[in-house]
Amino acid sequence: MIDAHCHVDFKEYNRNREEVMERAQDRLDAIINSGASLGGNRRTLKLANEYPGFLYPSLGFHPKNAQKADSIIIEQSIQEIENNIDKIVALGETGLDFHGLEDEENKKKQKSVFETFLELAAEYQLPLVIHARDAERKALDMVKKQGLNEVIFHCYGGDAKTASLIVEEGYYISLSTIICFSKHHQDLAGKIPLSNILTETDSPYLSPFKGRNEPAFVKEVLKTLSQVKDISLVEVDGITQKNIKKVFRLK
Ligand SMILES: [Zn+2]
Repeated sequence: MIDAHCHVDFKEYNRNREEVMERAQDRLDAIINSGASLGGNRRTLKLANEYPGFLYPSLGFHPKNAQKADSIIIEQSIQEIENNIDKIVALGETGLDFHGLEDEENKKKQKSVFETFLELAAEYQLPLVIHARDAERKALDMVKKQGLNEVIFHCYGGDAKTASLIVEEGYYISLSTIICFSKHHQDLAGKIPLSNILTETDSPYLSPFKGRNEPAFVKEVLKTLSQVKDISLVEVDGITQKNIKKVFRLK
């Protein structure tokens, strides 16, 4: 089992990060930690150093952070990502989050940072991890325009039509632990072929239980997928793990 998207660097784990990582190492084969800010990217690289061959780093800048960040901080983040480009398995998370957002200036700011990441992904031939909320179609259009091949729509929650367009492009849809308690996400999972599905927790968010989520709980995604697809957990794990290893080029 692999958690294809989590944030173990977040402060929610400061109290007992080592325990969380121990549980993850006991139960999983690997995790991808996604940086979401300048500090988050630095912490992600540090964790990758502490857990080599288990925690793989993806560096980015979350659209919600991009919207409020100083342009100097964004530039510095991009610079640091380029300086560490040979250490990372993907770029992101990045993208568009228009949920509850009316302000055009903020949308523009998100788009411009997203554009920068699209260009980096093309230049360095790295997979791109996308956060898109209430802007899935727009994000897909931008990705297609850039002509990227390896794209992951992380924690996808858009409509089935856009999901099918994503699949048509050969891109991946990463389903989070939200699938355990959301009918909409279970319906989506039923329609998306397993060959295009990745599994993730988006920890510390979206716990299938009470309280904080953690990478080890990715098993709950696999359990739900196994029910929805009516095939064994072992089979689901085999296919989704193969997808994750392929797109992030893990050994
Ligand atoms: Zn995330």
